[in-house]
Amino acid sequence: MQVIKYKGGMTMVDRSDAPDYQCKNCFKVWWRDDFEQSLFIACQNCHGQLRNITNDDPIEI
Ligand SMILES: [Zn+2]
Repeated sequence: MQVIKYKGGMTMVDRSDAPDYQCKNCFKVWWRDDFEQSLFIACQNCHGQLRNITNDDPIEI
């Protein structure tokens, strides 16, 4: 389990890998497999646009 802080909140998840996406609108973080069933990926919280989290562009806190 890990706690991930992001701008405006935090999430506790039962996994140890880093998130893949962050919402540009509400800043919530997501993992690739949250969207396994989806053709288009969008934030499941606010339907905002997601961006890739990379080393050059890490989680906005
Ligand atoms: Zn969002």
